[in-house]
Amino acid sequence: LANLKFHPEPTKVKLGNCEVGGKQLIIMAGPCAIESRDQLLESADAVKMGGATVLRGGAYKPRTSPYSFQGLEEEGLKYMQEAREKTGLSIVCEVTSISAVETASKYVDILQIGARNMQNFELLKAAGKTNIPVLLKRGLSATIDEWLNAAEYIMSEGNQNVILCERGIRTFETATRNTLDISAIPVIKSKSHLPIIVDPSHACGKRPYIPSLAKAAIAAGADGLMIEVHPNPKIALSDGPQSLDPQDFKVLMDELRPIAEAMGRTI
Ligand code: PEP
Ligand code: MN
Repeated sequence: LANLKFHPEPTKVKLGNCEVGGKQLIIMAGPCAIESRDQLLESADAVKMGGATVLRGGAYKPRTSPYSFQGLEEEGLKYMQEAREKTGLSIVCEVTSISAVETASKYVDILQIGARNMQNFELLKAAGKTNIPVLLKRGLSATIDEWLNAAEYIMSEGNQNVILCERGIRTFETATRNTLDISAIPVIKSKSHLPIIVDPSHACGKRPYIPSLAKAAIAAGADGLMIEVHPNPKIALSDGPQSLDPQDFKVLMDELRPIAEAMGRTI
């Protein structure tokens, strides 16, 4: 179902106010984790001002350590819903369990399956049984073929609205958190009709490198970006070192526009 051979037209995934895979590049931005109502609403205003169309924010956080902040769960989803009502942004939230799929389905415009769950087949099937668009992140060590098979799990349950997200893969390099696989963009475009966006934040893990990766992704033909933005990255409960502040985000968005235009796209 994900194969370009049997579906030669690029898929456009419709969201409330836009579509992913069309002429307009879709920028999803917001904090790693929803920390409080104020923090989320402030983030939503900031990313809206910068020109984002989708607000991201984690309510269920798959943290490496069980002692790290795990997320506000349904309370966080309610803040996301409020942010959508206030700003008109669509909202995307990661789901880490089948029960989270059930709960989040009542609130979000996009269900996100994180890198750590890319091959959680029961979770993929549960997301596939909804009709909500699914943002499927590439697994930390997944090949492109494994990633497309994960998309197939969702689609074979009936949900064709899958957006792929390259977020960096594990390599021997330690200077960055992961290594952004830019080649994934043309490779996916040659194999699949599904739209692909890039997450430079998780790919490099360090704020100063994010603009370069974001620009490279758009120049390589990505259909959008996911960027972590926090009103005050220094006090973020997760991923502060890779979060842009509102000012940096706005500067980056302004720098991306001419590159998008050169690619025949808009932001
Ligand atoms: C996230 O987007 O918050 C996240 C945890 O990303 P990834 O699954 O790519 O690590
Ligand atoms: Mn994060």
